[in-house]
Amino acid sequence: MEALRWHAARDVRLDEVEEPQLLPGTALVEVAFCGLCGTDVHEYTHGPVMIRPGAHPLSGARPPITLGHEFSGRVVAMDGEVPGIAVGSRVVADPCLRCGVCRWCLRGEYHICAKGGSIGLAADGGLAPLVRVPLIELHAIPDGVSDQHAALAEPLAVGLHAAMRAQVGPGDHVLVLGAGPIGLAALIGARVAGAATVFVSEPNPARAEIARSMGATAVFDPTTDDVRKEVFTGTGRIGPDAVIDGTGRPEAIDLGVRSLRRGGRMAIAGISPSELAIDLRQIVLYERQLVGSLGYNFDIPRVLGLMASGHIDPAPLITGVRPLADGAATLEELSSPNQHVKVLLTPQEI
Ligand SMILES: [Zn+2]
Ligand SMILES: [Zn+2]
Repeated sequence: MEALRWHAARDVRLDEVEEPQLLPGTALVEVAFCGLCGTDVHEYTHGPVMIRPGAHPLSGARPPITLGHEFSGRVVAMDGEVPGIAVGSRVVADPCLRCGVCRWCLRGEYHICAKGGSIGLAADGGLAPLVRVPLIELHAIPDGVSDQHAALAEPLAVGLHAAMRAQVGPGDHVLVLGAGPIGLAALIGARVAGAATVFVSEPNPARAEIARSMGATAVFDPTTDDVRKEVFTGTGRIGPDAVIDGTGRPEAIDLGVRSLRRGGRMAIAGISPSELAIDLRQIVLYERQLVGSLGYNFDIPRVLGLMASGHIDPAPLITGVRPLADGAATLEELSSPNQHVKVLLTPQEI
């Protein structure tokens, strides 16, 4: 079969590879759609970032490695049983690899497993016709949720998890920094968590428009607007209860900290190697809280349920559906400024 494999930075190829073997406790999934995400683009432009140069401790996989961790598909073989899932079931994966025995796995915090990793970065992923998935990572796609929409459960779970980490609750005022895939997912996550208002800071007009269409209360341009002041005014001169960063940019995080209400909480979901220089008084004197938010933790089935119930419509996020053969060219396109939110690739006929 042909798989889109990462060999090195700027070197992603459609390679002819062996089909994956069914191992004990795993399933083989025939991929329907697989999204490309910022992580894949980072691996393409300056990887390895999350990919390990050597063998991964859990999977044993080493580069070249098949990318793709946001996929939907159909079970074609399984070794073992999962309640509600059989050969033929439509599924997505919670792609977090986990050891199952470390302190964090035992506490249910499998997403910060000491040996953790992700399918598509630490084991061959879904940018191929077939992918092997540990049975414990499978989730059935509810009837009424399409394969394309289900492929967005993973990135949307990142946003829901960030809203949970920021402790967004009913009636809260929220500020989301950035309207890229993570920021838009955070906007949706904050909405379904019950936020009364969700303000968004985003300089790109196309992304700002998508944020508006997805229910943002107002979108401000941080290059021209005084975002802190606008949100302060828009929240009755209190400031947002929660801020979610989807940028990983120091200037955005500084803005977020200064914007938070007294005692408010900020979750940082954007990732970058940048260092922060924050006036500590901005944190201590106002008892503001800063937390990291990594991926998701049981959030994928929640998102699938919210799609099935109509509370989440991911359609506006899908800005392209392309054949898998276009994968390398699409990564190149996504590596410079563009209007895309989520491009799905498919190994099947379109
Ligand atoms: Zn991702
Ligand atoms: Zn573990």
